[in-house]
Amino acid sequence: MTTVNQKIVLAEMPQGAVGPEHFSLEVEDLGPLEEGQVRIAVDYISIDAFIRTTLRDGSFHQSVGVGGTIGALGAGHVIDTGSEQFHVGDAVKGPVGAQTVATVPAQYLETVDESLAPLSAHLGALGLTTGLTAWVGVRDIGRPQPGETFVVSAAAGAVGSIAGQIARMDGARVIGIAGGPAKAAHLVDELGFDAAIDYKNDDVAARLRELAPDGVNVYFDNVGGELLDVVLDQMAERGRIVICGAISQYERTGDVRGPSLYLRLAERQCRMEGFAVFHFPESYAPATAELAGWLADGSIVMTEQVVTGIERFPEALETMFTGGNVGKLLVHIERQDEG
Ligand code: NAP
Repeated sequence: MTTVNQKIVLAEMPQGAVGPEHFSLEVEDLGPLEEGQVRIAVDYISIDAFIRTTLRDGSFHQSVGVGGTIGALGAGHVIDTGSEQFHVGDAVKGPVGAQTVATVPAQYLETVDESLAPLSAHLGALGLTTGLTAWVGVRDIGRPQPGETFVVSAAAGAVGSIAGQIARMDGARVIGIAGGPAKAAHLVDELGFDAAIDYKNDDVAARLRELAPDGVNVYFDNVGGELLDVVLDQMAERGRIVICGAISQYERTGDVRGPSLYLRLAERQCRMEGFAVFHFPESYAPATAELAGWLADGSIVMTEQVVTGIERFPEALETMFTGGNVGKLLVHIERQDEG
């Protein structure tokens, strides 16, 4: 039985851009389990933008102090159990942290049905912070109608790519905004978006006017900052802006940029509504069922970018904040019996 754990701890609180220099890898021997705990050999760790927001005091999510293990969602298999709810060999997911062997109270874990989709997909297309977030943002908040124009930022990323594909299935015309020509091509060629804007090279305002001459009906915002103002300026009457995230602002401490063109909301009778996926537990079951069906019949595509080795967790997190990922970014922990 594995009793040695390798974990990523915070070595220094990042003040701006996060990088490998802010973390260290520690090795520890694990003691016996307490009643109610479950021990998991972690196979996949989900790289999520919220992890960056925990690396400061007063985070909305739980803050991590220097020396603390970095919090993260993940999936793996039970190797020891102090709970009748779980058995050795069960596939589970939950808040495992950035480590190879996690010891987690049973109430925080969820069984994973690997016959529905491979384990990694339960963090991606079927994961709380990816597929379910996209589903809630589109279906519960933005509600695009057939023929409406739906714009999504960080569109080639995990949440954005699924949000755009759901909106398209709901009959909207979907425009994705992403960084670089390769990502823009990916949106149209592989994900079936109607159009893409490369915000690193295009004049976004001009391209948006061209592609959406009647205005934007739904803006699914993952980025915030300057881009939010550009789209606010081109909202159609009775448009909806879904504040899913603001990744452009997570590395700024103290001077988060808010929208300066918010009066467009009043002028055009628009609504801007933020959400956190865990406020919508009633949507988890219908969202999971629908996403699993789409994944199985190929109606949605979820690209995965997998980095192997716990020691590469810091590099993977940095990749997300420098736009190096396409689709769902995961860290894979190889078991000794794997190639
Ligand atoms: P992701 O989109 O897979 O990766 C992040 C992407 O954001 C990068 O690939 C990069 O793409 C873009 N980006 C990074 N820094 C940027 C910057 N300064 N300006 C503009 N774009 C930048 O990440 P994800 O996990 O799917 O998360 C997407 C968003 O959803 C995040 O804002 C996250 O906080 C939010 N989220 C919200 C909830 C919720 O409950 N509301 C749950 C999960 C996630 P480019 O190459 O295109 O720049």
